[in-house]
Amino acid sequence: MSDVFQFMNIPRQDGAKTPAEVRRVEFKEIYAPMNPTQAGEQAGRCLECGNPYCEWKCPVHNYIPNWLKLINEGKLFEAAELSHQTNSLPEVCGRVCPQDRLCEGACTLNSDGFGEAVGGFGAVTIGQIEKYISEEAFKAGWRPDMSHVVKTSKRVAVIGAGPAGLGCADILARNGVTPVVFDRYDEIGGLLTFGIPEFKMEKWVMTRRREVLEGMGVEFRLGTEVGKDISMQQLMDEYDAVFMGMGTYTYMKGGFPGEDLPGVLEALPFLISNVNHRLGFEKPGDDYHSMAGQRVVVLGGGDTAMDCNRTSIRQGAASVTCAYRRDEKNMPGSKREVVNAKEEGVQFLWNRQPVEIVGDGKVEGVKLVTTELGPPDVRGRRTPVVVPGSEEVIPADRVIIAFGFRPNPQPWFTDFGITTDQGGRVVAKGGQHKFQTANPKIFAGGDMVRGSDLVVTAVFEGREAAEGILGYLGVW
Ligand code: FAD
Ligand code: SF4
Repeated sequence: MSDVFQFMNIPRQDGAKTPAEVRRVEFKEIYAPMNPTQAGEQAGRCLECGNPYCEWKCPVHNYIPNWLKLINEGKLFEAAELSHQTNSLPEVCGRVCPQDRLCEGACTLNSDGFGEAVGGFGAVTIGQIEKYISEEAFKAGWRPDMSHVVKTSKRVAVIGAGPAGLGCADILARNGVTPVVFDRYDEIGGLLTFGIPEFKMEKWVMTRRREVLEGMGVEFRLGTEVGKDISMQQLMDEYDAVFMGMGTYTYMKGGFPGEDLPGVLEALPFLISNVNHRLGFEKPGDDYHSMAGQRVVVLGGGDTAMDCNRTSIRQGAASVTCAYRRDEKNMPGSKREVVNAKEEGVQFLWNRQPVEIVGDGKVEGVKLVTTELGPPDVRGRRTPVVVPGSEEVIPADRVIIAFGFRPNPQPWFTDFGITTDQGGRVVAKGGQHKFQTANPKIFAGGDMVRGSDLVVTAVFEGREAAEGILGYLGVW
């Protein structure tokens, strides 16, 4: 770097954010892209720590200081090539990773409480620069260099075109193995397309990534559900190995009275109905759930809850209130998204636990109790304890339940010797090769193995599983 003290002269600067009053009515990404000067200056704030904590905390272990240095020196294509060495979807992770909990939280310059802060200078804007690198490189015509790849005759079926499946396909293609990716949806991306709303990531990002992957030799069979449109047996017969990255799609319930009242919605069907409505993917008989004019209460405190809050605002809800059973500090979602939600008009009720959805034939309100935080549980998260006599009912016309997702093991798993743990997660550890299931020809990764988590952890597991497959096929 030209000046190692640049962080003292140039403050952390995020890409410009669209004003909240504009955001409230449009489904567009809210952060403007950085320009080359900004990106170079912000990248130059990196201290080039000898032992970069950001790199360790990043689940794919991106070579962060190295590509920051390349951007500071204006070497865009080299930065893009390097960032793709460790991450199959850098343009996506730069947009949707909870950086405050990952790379930026671990940055030595960070002053927001993770690790040792150096005087409150503010972490390097790693996520936005990661996005900048891919966006600018793609615009300038860069594509992954496949010139050195030696093709083999091996073909692997990948079930699921979400981050795990795409991570796996990327590594297989780069090693001369043809991945054929099956997905029941008509576009790739999994929850990135049919879940995460456009204000976090616009949908063309995945369309372009499909074209990039197709250019690398990845084949897609979209609109094809394994177990319905094509059998697992056919995949086992026709391919040299199978990777499963099928996600987790069992909705978690609260287990309190009133959850079945008309007006109560699950988070994912609500978000998917919005995507389908907006993109023209609606099929006859599909329901579009509009929150226009409604008093909406969202239950939950994760990324899914924030997406429901902010989608309801954009649909024209009369009010949006989000109730969560812990305090703001202990919520699981990205802090950045809570700030964005507040700016857009979402009201938060912290330390409130729902005990009933009330109404006569339809939703009329939510009964909440106040909680205090008790001792930490085995995962270190403090358990909410109900304050006696604290019941209150807040009025609502619609309630959206965003308590998370559990795995949905398929009935055909047992026919192929695929085992699951008590929580329904596919067991893919302990085999000879990385992410191999109890059936040596079948590998698995992402949410269906680790439980609902993050895009970047799913990408990592897909890539690792691909390495396992390459070992199994004897390509490595
Ligand atoms: P998925 O993305 O679920 O992909 C699985 C794919 O498999 C799907 O496309 C599905 O159609 C396909 N499939 C399943 N069964 C079959 C079958 N039988 N045949 C063919 N295809 C099949 N993470 C973040 O890091 N940041 C965020 O901001 C964030 N926001 C989120 C918001 C919401 C609303 C949700 C629900 C999740 C969010 N997450 C976020 C989590 C993240 O999206 C997931 O952890 C990630 O997508 C998991 O990747 P995956 O590939 O394992 O599964
Ligand atoms: Fe940070 Fe996520 Fe990029 Fe890793 S992948 S550098 S955690 S934004």
